[in-house]
Amino acid sequence: MKFDTKIIHAGIEHDPTTGAIIPPIYQTTTFALDEIGHDKGFDYTRSANPTRQVLETNLAAVEGGRYGICFASGMATVDSCTKLLSSGDHIVCSDDVYGGVSRHFNFILARYGLSFSYVDTSNPDKVMQAIRPNTKTLWIETPTNPLLKITDLAAMAEIARQHELLYVVDSTFASPCYLRPLEYQADLVIHSTTKYLSGHNQIIGGIVITNREDLSDQLKFVQKTIGAVPSPFDCWLTLMGIKTLHLRMPRHSGNALAVADFLAEHPKVARVIYPGLPSHPQHQIASRQMDGFSGMISFELTGGIPAGRQLMNSIRLCALAESLGAVESMITHPATMTHAEVPREERVARGLTDGLVRLSVGIEDLDDIIGDLKQALDRVDE
Ligand SMILES: *Cc1c(COP(=O)(O)O)cnc(C)c1O
Repeated sequence: MKFDTKIIHAGIEHDPTTGAIIPPIYQTTTFALDEIGHDKGFDYTRSANPTRQVLETNLAAVEGGRYGICFASGMATVDSCTKLLSSGDHIVCSDDVYGGVSRHFNFILARYGLSFSYVDTSNPDKVMQAIRPNTKTLWIETPTNPLLKITDLAAMAEIARQHELLYVVDSTFASPCYLRPLEYQADLVIHSTTKYLSGHNQIIGGIVITNREDLSDQLKFVQKTIGAVPSPFDCWLTLMGIKTLHLRMPRHSGNALAVADFLAEHPKVARVIYPGLPSHPQHQIASRQMDGFSGMISFELTGGIPAGRQLMNSIRLCALAESLGAVESMITHPATMTHAEVPREERVARGLTDGLVRLSVGIEDLDDIIGDLKQALDRVDE
């Protein structure tokens, strides 16, 4: 099956009793046995649920992998993957990872004897230099949030192989439409299904996909033991969202490239970060390993914090909202919103400058999106 067909059909069979084309929502806690020792493959929804299983099968196929294990959020997925590690282990991690991931590592896992080095993984030499005798995991996010740095996954595969590291890729920003890290020997691929996969701002969820049976077995054990599982209804909503992934992504990307071009020409914009622009520092790598550049743009206003505030308060069509990857355009100003609590010096050192704005470009009419940004930028001081 080709990619676009897998999205619609992989793992989905017509209901044997009614012929229903869409899988039912098995909203049940438990399953009755015929007799002791004879279940029908399900016993308790924390361990397995038929609706969840359809989603896991479908997404594993779409990602090009053998096994999918779903969780109640992207963060529950991240947490469950780290349950494969042990006290004393060291993790080398991309320095611009999703804020929730570094918060989890630094404020929760550090208390359990795990240690972390954050490096710019777009530079393989820095990754090599960070490896210690107790390094067990290479944790890559590409593109990163919010600076959209791209990591060369083939180079990381080589490092992971040499040093026998568990190689994890958070591929949320690219979606399997545009990047399939298993093709670069990743052991685990993580998605927050909250974003492009479900795509309509309707659920919170996550999945990890692997080709390795040993890791799948361990993760299924974590899934049923810890129980951070999604509801059957959320699984079903995610399945409905996935069906148009291959139609949505090119529209997100096309709109984003045009918006990036518009912003790059605007006098109140100091710089635009978009992997699809030749000015992006890793544009070459992105062009080689991705089939598209996705819908996320970051840009810097010349006017710093006041300009950021003015833009956020003038925007009309784009929602002033955290999250990304949905059909609706959404905009955030890290300095006053997501990262307001981070001390300015630390924030700026991480590249989150005062005027930085993150835009998740939706699939509305392009002229309307650009028109909205234009009218809002008119109200911004230089
Ligand atoms: C949103 C996100 C997460 C966390 O996912 P939730 O579903 O919000 O828990 C993790 N990684 C990346 C890259 C994300 O964008």
